[in-house]
Amino acid sequence: MIHIRLPDGAIRALTPASTAADLASAISPSLAKRTVAAVVDGQLADLTTPLPDAAAVELVPRDDARALELIRHDLAHVLAEAVQTLWPGTKAAIGPAIAHGFYYDFERDTPFTPEDLPVIEQKMREIIAARRPFTREVWSRDAARAHFEAAGETWKLELLDSIPEGKPVTIYRQGDWLDLCRGPHMRHTGDAGTAFALTHVAGAYWRGDATKPMLSRIYGVAFADQAALDGHLAMLAEAEKRDHRRLGREMDLFHFEEVAPGAVFWHPRGWRLFQTLIGYMRTRQEEAGYVEVNSPDIMDRALWETSGHWQNYRANMFLAQTEDDRDYALKPMNCPGHMLIYGQGTKSYRDLPLKLAEFGKVHRYEPSGALHGLLRVRSFTQDDAHIYCTPDQLTEECLKVNDLVLSIYRDFGFTDVRIKLSTRPENRIGSDDRWDRSEGALRTALDTAGHAYRIFEGEGAFYGPKLEYVLRDAIGRDWQCGTLQVDFNLPERFGSSYVAPSGEKLPPVMLHRALFGSLERFTGILVEHHAGHLPLWLAPAQVVVATITGAADLWAADVAETLREAGLRVETDLRNEKIGYKVREHALKKVPVQIALGAREADEQTVTLRRHGATETQTMPLSEAVQALVQEAKAPGGA
Ligand SMILES: [Zn+2]
Ligand SMILES: [Zn+2]
Repeated sequence: MIHIRLPDGAIRALTPASTAADLASAISPSLAKRTVAAVVDGQLADLTTPLPDAAAVELVPRDDARALELIRHDLAHVLAEAVQTLWPGTKAAIGPAIAHGFYYDFERDTPFTPEDLPVIEQKMREIIAARRPFTREVWSRDAARAHFEAAGETWKLELLDSIPEGKPVTIYRQGDWLDLCRGPHMRHTGDAGTAFALTHVAGAYWRGDATKPMLSRIYGVAFADQAALDGHLAMLAEAEKRDHRRLGREMDLFHFEEVAPGAVFWHPRGWRLFQTLIGYMRTRQEEAGYVEVNSPDIMDRALWETSGHWQNYRANMFLAQTEDDRDYALKPMNCPGHMLIYGQGTKSYRDLPLKLAEFGKVHRYEPSGALHGLLRVRSFTQDDAHIYCTPDQLTEECLKVNDLVLSIYRDFGFTDVRIKLSTRPENRIGSDDRWDRSEGALRTALDTAGHAYRIFEGEGAFYGPKLEYVLRDAIGRDWQCGTLQVDFNLPERFGSSYVAPSGEKLPPVMLHRALFGSLERFTGILVEHHAGHLPLWLAPAQVVVATITGAADLWAADVAETLREAGLRVETDLRNEKIGYKVREHALKKVPVQIALGAREADEQTVTLRRHGATETQTMPLSEAVQALVQEAKAPGGA
C-alpha cells in the first residue's frame, strides 16, 4: 500500500500505482465527478499520473481558481486540433494559456482572418462535445523527432530541441490528435467547457524573433462559466468604446507618426489637458514642500557609468555621438541628474528632507511591437521626485508620500487603489538591519494610513524595497501607476552625504517616487476611465459658445469674453451651420458644456446651457451661469 496525505492531515492508504483519480473515487463518487486535476507535492498534475508514496495530495475541482489555467490550456489544444482538421497541412507552433484566455500560433501561406473564427469555434465545440480523453505518453526523442518530421511540424522540432537533455519528452493525445506538451491537462476535452470565445487574429514572430517567418496567431478568452465570460466580453466591448486612441482622435488630443515611433504629437487640446495635469501636480507638490528642478536631457556616458545605467541598461537607451568623439545618452531616468544637483554645496541635516521634483522627459527604447498609444511609449514625462532624508525621517516621509498619492488619485476619480509592497530579494546589497528599517518604514506608513496592502516577498529591487500603487478603473481594469522606492545604493555610488548634528558626514537615505508615473500613460488611463467625459476642471475645452443665428454673434462674443475673463477655457462656434449639427460635433469632442445662443438669448442677455449627457437645457442670466461654472471648474485640492 501507499499512503497519501490529504490537506486536512488525514492519511489515505491506496494500492500501489494508484492515481489521483483513484484517490478521488475512493473518497466519494461525487468528488470524483467534480475533480479535474490534483496538486501533488505542490505541483499541479494530471489525475492519471500514479501517485508516489507519502505524497501530499490536494484534489482540484473544476471551479477552483487553479483549474482556470488548465481550462485555457486545454482550449489551446482544442483550437489547434480544430484548425488542423479544417485546414490540413497548417503547421502548429506554440499555444499557451495567458491572462483571460489562450492563443495558438500557426504557420500557413494565408494568415487567418476574423471571418475564419466562427468556423473554428464551431469545430472546437464539436471536439469539446466529444469529450475526448487527454492521455499523457512519454516518447523517446527519436520517436518524437520521426513523428514531427513526417508530419512536417518544423516548429515542434524546434520545441523538441529546446527540451533539456534528461527531461522526458511528453505527448498529450486527445483522440487522433496529439501535441508535444509538458502538461498537465484535465480528464477530457469536455472539461474545457463552453465558456470561451475566439476574439481576434494577429501576426506574431516565433518567440518574438523578427528574422523568423511571421506566424498567424488566434486569440481566445475563456472562463470557468458563462457568466464570467459574459462579464469579460462586456468589459472588452466597453474597453473598445473607451479606447484612448480612438477618443484621442475624436477629441483632437494627439497623434503619432512613423518618423517618431512611440513619441506623442500633442495637439492644442491634448497639450492643454497635459498642462492641466502638470499644473495640478505642481500645486500639490509645492504644498507638500517639494522644490522643482530641471536637469539636462542629454548627458555624457561618464555619468551613466557612475549610475550603472551604461553597464546595465544601455540596450534601452538612445545614444548619441558628437564631432568631438564624446558618447552621450538621452536620459532614461531623472535620478542621476538629481544626484548631481544634490551634490552641489554641503548639505546639513537641517536641509533634510530635501524633495527635488522634476517633470522630466525620459526616453527609453521599447521594442516596436510593445508600443501601444499613450499607454506604452518611448518618450514620456515623469512626475518624478527624489526625497533625500535622514534614516530617522524615513518613516514619516514614506507616510507623507503615501497620503499624497492616495489623495491625488481620489481627486482624479480613482477610489479603488491596491498597494503592493515588494520586499528584499535574494540578491541584494546592504545589511539586513538596513533592509529591516526600510521595509519597516514602508509597512509602518501603510499601517498608519490604515490601507490594506499585499506583500510580494523577494520582489524588491536589489537596492531597496518598494511600494506600487495599482488603480482600478471604471470598468475593472488594473493600472500600476505610482511607485515609492527606498534606495541606499545611488547615494553611495555618487558619494552623496550630509553633515549630521555630530559633525560626521553620512550618506542620506533616498526615496524615488512618481505618482502618475508617466504623464502620457496617465492621460491615456484617465481618458479611458472617464470614457472621454473628463470632469469640468480637466476638460481641455470646458465651454463652447455656439450661435443659432447670425443675429446672436455679438452676444456670443460678449459671453465668451466674460467666461474667459472668469478663467474658463472657452471656444466659440459662429459658423453658419444648423445648431443640431454643431451640438453633435462638440458632443463628439466631449466638450462638457455647450451654450447655445439665439435671437431670444441675445435680446434678453441670457444663455442656454446644454450639459453633456443631460436631455434638457437650462436658460439663465449670464452672471448666474458664470458663477456656477467657475465653482464647478475649480481643481480639487485633495480632500
Ligand atoms: Zn498542453
Ligand atoms: Zn529615481
